[in-house]
Amino acid sequence: MMGPSHALSGAAAWLAGSWALAQFAGVSQTPLEVAVGTAVCAGGALLPDLDMSGKVTRNQGGATVARTFGVASLFVAEVVEKFSLGVYTATKLSRDPRRENGHRTFTHTLPFCALIGWGTTALATEYGKWAVVGIVFFMAGLALRGLFDEWAERAGWVIVTLASAFIAWFTAANLPGDRGYPLLGLAVAVGCVVHLFGDMITKNGVPILWPIPLNRRMWRMIGIPNSMAVKVGGKVEVVVLRTAFTVISLLSIAGLFIPSVLERLNEEFWASR
Ligand SMILES: [Zn+2]
Repeated sequence: MMGPSHALSGAAAWLAGSWALAQFAGVSQTPLEVAVGTAVCAGGALLPDLDMSGKVTRNQGGATVARTFGVASLFVAEVVEKFSLGVYTATKLSRDPRRENGHRTFTHTLPFCALIGWGTTALATEYGKWAVVGIVFFMAGLALRGLFDEWAERAGWVIVTLASAFIAWFTAANLPGDRGYPLLGLAVAVGCVVHLFGDMITKNGVPILWPIPLNRRMWRMIGIPNSMAVKVGGKVEVVVLRTAFTVISLLSIAGLFIPSVLERLNEEFWASR
Protein backbone atom coordinates (compact mmCIF):
# COMPACT_ATOMS: atom_id res chain seq x y z
CA MET A 1 0.00 0.00 0.00
CA MET A 2 1.02 3.61 -0.41
CA GLY A 3 1.78 6.09 2.37
CA PRO A 4 -1.71 7.61 2.79
CA SER A 5 -3.38 4.18 3.04
CA HIS A 6 -0.86 3.00 5.63
CA ALA A 7 -1.32 6.15 7.71
CA LEU A 8 -5.12 5.96 7.48
CA SER A 9 -5.12 2.30 8.50
CA GLY A 10 -3.02 3.18 11.56
CA ALA A 11 -5.36 6.02 12.53
CA ALA A 12 -8.42 3.78 12.06
CA ALA A 13 -6.87 0.99 14.15
CA TRP A 14 -6.08 3.32 17.06
CA LEU A 15 -9.47 5.04 17.02
CA ALA A 16 -11.38 1.75 16.78
CA GLY A 17 -9.20 0.28 19.56
CA SER A 18 -9.77 3.32 21.78
CA TRP A 19 -13.51 3.02 21.21
CA ALA A 20 -13.44 -0.70 22.06
CA LEU A 21 -11.37 -0.06 25.20
CA ALA A 22 -13.78 2.64 26.34
CA GLN A 23 -16.80 0.52 25.54
CA PHE A 24 -15.72 -2.85 26.94
CA ALA A 25 -12.93 -2.15 29.42
CA GLY A 26 -13.97 1.25 30.71
CA VAL A 27 -10.64 2.86 29.72
CA SER A 28 -11.41 6.52 29.17
CA GLN A 29 -9.03 8.92 27.45
CA THR A 30 -9.25 12.67 27.05
CA PRO A 31 -9.74 13.96 23.48
CA LEU A 32 -6.09 15.11 23.48
CA GLU A 33 -4.86 11.67 24.54
CA VAL A 34 -6.90 10.05 21.76
CA ALA A 35 -5.58 12.60 19.24
CA VAL A 36 -1.95 12.05 20.29
CA GLY A 37 -2.36 8.25 20.21
CA THR A 38 -3.99 8.43 16.78
CA ALA A 39 -1.24 10.63 15.34
CA VAL A 40 1.48 8.40 16.82
CA CYS A 41 -0.22 5.23 15.54
CA ALA A 42 -0.69 6.75 12.06
CA GLY A 43 2.99 7.69 12.09
CA GLY A 44 3.93 4.23 13.37
CA ALA A 45 2.06 2.73 10.43
CA LEU A 46 4.56 4.44 8.14
CA LEU A 47 7.67 3.68 10.17
CA PRO A 48 8.58 0.30 8.61
CA ASP A 49 8.98 1.98 5.21
CA LEU A 50 11.77 4.07 6.65
CA ASP A 51 13.86 1.28 5.09
CA MET A 52 13.25 2.64 1.61
CA SER A 53 16.12 4.96 0.98
CA GLY A 54 16.63 7.33 -1.88
CA LYS A 55 19.74 9.12 -3.03
CA VAL A 56 20.88 11.29 -0.16
CA THR A 57 23.57 13.07 -2.12
CA ARG A 58 21.11 14.17 -4.80
CA ASN A 59 18.13 14.52 -2.43
CA GLN A 60 15.99 12.21 -4.58
CA GLY A 61 13.78 9.15 -4.22
CA GLY A 62 12.89 7.36 -1.01
CA ALA A 63 9.51 6.36 0.41
CA THR A 64 6.93 8.91 1.57
CA VAL A 65 8.25 8.76 5.12
CA ALA A 66 11.86 9.06 4.09
CA ARG A 67 11.14 12.54 2.76
CA THR A 68 9.28 13.87 5.81
CA PHE A 69 12.10 15.93 7.24
CA GLY A 70 13.99 16.50 4.00
CA VAL A 71 17.55 15.24 3.56
CA ALA A 72 17.83 14.46 7.30
CA SER A 73 15.19 11.73 7.15
CA LEU A 74 16.50 10.57 3.78
CA PHE A 75 19.83 9.99 5.52
CA VAL A 76 18.12 8.10 8.37
CA ALA A 77 16.35 5.94 5.76
CA GLU A 78 19.71 5.14 4.17
CA VAL A 79 21.09 4.02 7.53
CA VAL A 80 17.95 1.98 8.34
CA GLU A 81 18.04 0.28 4.94
CA LYS A 82 21.72 -0.66 5.26
CA PHE A 83 21.24 -1.84 8.83
CA SER A 84 18.25 -3.98 7.78
CA LEU A 85 20.28 -5.46 4.94
CA GLY A 86 22.98 -6.24 7.50
CA VAL A 87 20.48 -8.09 9.72
CA TYR A 88 19.19 -9.94 6.67
CA THR A 89 22.62 -11.02 5.51
CA ALA A 90 23.74 -12.00 9.00
CA THR A 91 20.69 -14.20 9.66
CA LYS A 92 19.89 -15.58 6.22
CA LEU A 93 19.91 -19.34 5.77
CA SER A 94 21.11 -21.31 2.78
CA ARG A 95 17.85 -21.06 0.84
CA ASP A 96 17.25 -17.38 1.41
CA PRO A 97 18.23 -15.44 -1.70
CA ARG A 98 21.06 -12.92 -1.68
CA ARG A 99 19.87 -9.34 -1.45
CA GLU A 100 21.36 -6.00 -2.39
CA ASN A 101 18.68 -3.89 -0.71
CA GLY A 102 17.19 -4.05 2.77
CA HIS A 103 13.63 -2.96 1.91
CA ARG A 104 10.90 -5.15 3.47
CA THR A 105 13.32 -7.05 5.68
CA PHE A 106 14.08 -6.29 9.34
CA THR A 107 11.68 -3.34 9.74
CA HIS A 108 8.88 -5.56 8.41
CA THR A 109 9.09 -8.16 11.21
CA LEU A 110 7.18 -8.55 14.48
CA PRO A 111 10.34 -8.34 16.63
CA PHE A 112 11.00 -4.91 15.09
CA CYS A 113 7.46 -3.75 16.00
CA ALA A 114 7.90 -5.00 19.57
CA LEU A 115 11.38 -3.46 19.88
CA ILE A 116 10.34 -0.05 18.61
CA GLY A 117 7.23 -0.07 20.85
CA TRP A 118 9.25 -1.08 23.89
CA GLY A 119 11.89 1.54 23.07
CA THR A 120 9.27 4.26 22.76
CA THR A 121 7.69 3.39 26.10
CA ALA A 122 11.11 3.14 27.75
CA LEU A 123 12.02 6.62 26.48
CA ALA A 124 8.70 8.11 27.56
CA THR A 125 8.96 6.50 31.01
CA GLU A 126 12.58 7.51 31.54
CA TYR A 127 12.44 11.09 30.30
CA GLY A 128 8.72 11.87 30.73
CA LYS A 129 7.24 14.84 28.98
CA TRP A 130 10.36 15.85 27.03
CA ALA A 131 10.63 12.43 25.43
CA VAL A 132 6.93 12.59 24.65
CA VAL A 133 7.46 15.92 22.88
CA GLY A 134 10.25 14.44 20.76
CA ILE A 135 8.28 11.30 19.94
CA VAL A 136 5.15 13.29 19.06
CA PHE A 137 7.21 15.64 16.89
CA PHE A 138 8.71 12.79 14.88
CA MET A 139 5.57 10.69 14.61
CA ALA A 140 3.29 13.64 13.84
CA GLY A 141 5.64 14.53 10.98
CA LEU A 142 5.29 11.04 9.54
CA ALA A 143 1.51 11.10 10.06
CA LEU A 144 1.09 14.50 8.36
CA ARG A 145 3.22 13.36 5.47
CA GLY A 146 1.18 10.18 5.15
CA LEU A 147 -2.33 11.47 5.72
CA PHE A 148 -2.03 14.65 3.70
CA ASP A 149 0.44 13.51 1.07
CA GLU A 150 -0.56 16.01 -1.63
CA TRP A 151 -0.55 18.94 0.77
CA ALA A 152 2.79 17.78 2.22
CA GLU A 153 4.25 17.45 -1.27
CA ARG A 154 3.20 20.99 -2.18
CA ALA A 155 4.08 22.51 1.19
CA GLY A 156 7.53 20.88 1.31
CA TRP A 157 9.41 19.44 4.26
CA VAL A 158 10.03 22.78 6.01
CA ILE A 159 6.30 23.39 6.47
CA VAL A 160 5.73 19.77 7.51
CA THR A 161 8.52 20.07 10.09
CA LEU A 162 7.10 23.36 11.43
CA ALA A 163 3.60 21.87 11.63
CA SER A 164 4.90 18.84 13.57
CA ALA A 165 6.80 21.17 15.90
CA PHE A 166 3.57 23.08 16.54
CA ILE A 167 1.69 19.84 17.29
CA ALA A 168 4.48 18.74 19.66
CA TRP A 169 4.44 22.13 21.40
CA PHE A 170 0.65 22.08 21.76
CA THR A 171 0.84 18.56 23.20
CA ALA A 172 3.54 19.56 25.67
CA ALA A 173 1.55 22.58 26.79
CA ASN A 174 -1.64 20.62 27.38
CA LEU A 175 -0.65 17.10 28.43
CA PRO A 176 -0.34 16.49 32.17
CA GLY A 177 3.34 16.00 33.02
CA ASP A 178 3.09 13.47 35.83
CA ARG A 179 2.76 10.21 33.88
CA GLY A 180 4.89 7.76 31.96
CA TYR A 181 2.67 7.57 28.87
CA PRO A 182 3.04 3.80 28.31
CA LEU A 183 0.30 4.00 25.65
CA LEU A 184 2.68 5.82 23.29
CA GLY A 185 4.79 2.72 22.78
CA LEU A 186 1.67 0.66 22.24
CA ALA A 187 0.52 3.17 19.60
CA VAL A 188 3.83 2.92 17.73
CA ALA A 189 3.84 -0.89 17.90
CA VAL A 190 0.21 -1.21 16.79
CA GLY A 191 0.94 1.14 13.89
CA CYS A 192 3.91 -1.02 12.81
CA VAL A 193 1.88 -4.24 12.96
CA VAL A 194 -0.94 -2.63 10.97
CA HIS A 195 1.67 -1.67 8.36
CA LEU A 196 2.78 -5.31 8.08
CA PHE A 197 -0.82 -6.41 7.49
CA GLY A 198 -1.16 -3.71 4.85
CA ASP A 199 1.92 -4.99 3.03
CA MET A 200 0.76 -8.60 3.35
CA ILE A 201 -2.28 -7.96 1.15
CA THR A 202 -0.13 -6.48 -1.60
CA LYS A 203 2.28 -8.37 -3.85
CA ASN A 204 5.42 -9.97 -2.36
CA GLY A 205 4.31 -10.04 1.28
CA VAL A 206 6.52 -9.51 4.32
CA PRO A 207 8.83 -11.80 6.38
CA ILE A 208 6.27 -11.99 9.20
CA LEU A 209 7.64 -15.29 10.58
CA TRP A 210 11.21 -14.04 11.11
CA PRO A 211 13.17 -15.26 13.08
CA ILE A 212 11.53 -18.68 12.87
CA PRO A 213 13.50 -20.89 10.44
CA LEU A 214 11.41 -23.00 8.06
CA ASN A 215 12.87 -25.23 5.38
CA ARG A 216 16.30 -23.62 5.58
CA ARG A 217 14.70 -20.23 5.07
CA MET A 218 14.50 -17.53 7.71
CA TRP A 219 13.13 -14.77 5.50
CA ARG A 220 10.14 -16.36 3.83
CA MET A 221 7.88 -13.66 2.40
CA ILE A 222 4.34 -14.27 3.64
CA GLY A 223 1.28 -12.70 2.05
CA ILE A 224 -1.86 -13.52 0.16
CA PRO A 225 -1.32 -15.12 -3.29
CA ASN A 226 -0.15 -12.65 -5.91
CA SER A 227 -3.22 -13.29 -8.06
CA MET A 228 -5.45 -11.99 -5.25
CA ALA A 229 -3.09 -9.26 -4.07
CA VAL A 230 -4.26 -5.65 -3.90
CA LYS A 231 -2.54 -3.60 -6.58
CA VAL A 232 -0.47 -0.82 -5.03
CA GLY A 233 -2.16 2.48 -5.83
CA GLY A 234 -5.02 0.67 -7.63
CA LYS A 235 -8.78 1.23 -7.28
CA VAL A 236 -9.24 -1.28 -4.44
CA GLU A 237 -6.60 0.47 -2.37
CA VAL A 238 -7.40 4.10 -3.17
CA VAL A 239 -11.21 3.85 -3.21
CA VAL A 240 -12.34 0.80 -1.23
CA LEU A 241 -9.70 0.54 1.50
CA ARG A 242 -9.25 4.25 2.15
CA THR A 243 -13.01 4.77 2.32
CA ALA A 244 -13.32 1.87 4.76
CA PHE A 245 -10.51 3.25 6.99
CA THR A 246 -12.09 6.72 6.93
CA VAL A 247 -15.54 5.38 7.83
CA ILE A 248 -14.11 3.28 10.68
CA SER A 249 -12.25 6.34 12.00
CA LEU A 250 -15.29 8.62 11.86
CA LEU A 251 -17.60 6.05 13.47
CA SER A 252 -15.07 5.48 16.27
CA ILE A 253 -14.72 9.22 16.90
CA ALA A 254 -18.51 9.50 17.02
CA GLY A 255 -18.75 6.52 19.38
CA LEU A 256 -16.01 7.94 21.61
CA PHE A 257 -17.19 11.51 21.97
CA ILE A 258 -20.86 11.90 21.06
CA PRO A 259 -22.15 10.16 24.22
CA SER A 260 -20.21 12.50 26.52
CA VAL A 261 -21.25 15.57 24.50
CA LEU A 262 -24.89 14.46 24.72
CA GLU A 263 -24.51 13.88 28.42
CA ARG A 264 -23.12 17.36 28.93
CA LEU A 265 -25.87 18.96 26.86
CA ASN A 266 -28.40 17.00 28.86
CA GLU A 267 -26.91 18.17 32.16
CA GLU A 268 -26.82 21.77 30.94
CA PHE A 269 -30.42 21.48 29.83
CA TRP A 270 -31.58 20.30 33.25
CA ALA A 271 -29.31 22.76 35.07
CA SER A 272 -30.83 25.65 33.10
CA ARG A 273 -34.38 24.79 34.14
ZN1 LIG B 1 6.22 -1.58 3.90
